[in-house]
Amino acid sequence: MARDQVLVVEDNARNMRLLRDVLQATGYRTLEASTGGQALTLAAEHRPAVVLMDVRLPDMDGMEALRRLKMDERTASIPVLAVTAQAMKGDRERFTEAGFDGYLSKPVDLDELLAVVQIYCGGGRQDMPSA
Ligand code: MN
Repeated sequence: MARDQVLVVEDNARNMRLLRDVLQATGYRTLEASTGGQALTLAAEHRPAVVLMDVRLPDMDGMEALRRLKMDERTASIPVLAVTAQAMKGDRERFTEAGFDGYLSKPVDLDELLAVVQIYCGGGRQDMPSA
């Protein structure tokens, strides 16, 4: 398992760039997927330390992509965090029940993002500014 590698699943190019830039500036390596299908392939190939999963994707929703990751023994143990604009009451519970390991609401708070990623990656470069 690649301890410093984060798989970002996001079909919006601007959101992707933001997440990638802040993660890389903090010292993490990133993998980038814009569809659920790409996410499954990259996760199985590279076994990143954590997956940031947009919930609305063009080919399948993040719930379905999560389900498939958890069914595949190569990827079942990788923590997956939902990243979603749906911030309605009860969403956190709904995502947790679906099997997500955590939840970040959009627009993503970058300090919160890095704090959560650090839990799974155990660091990044501590000498870099966090955001
Ligand atoms: Mn999306």
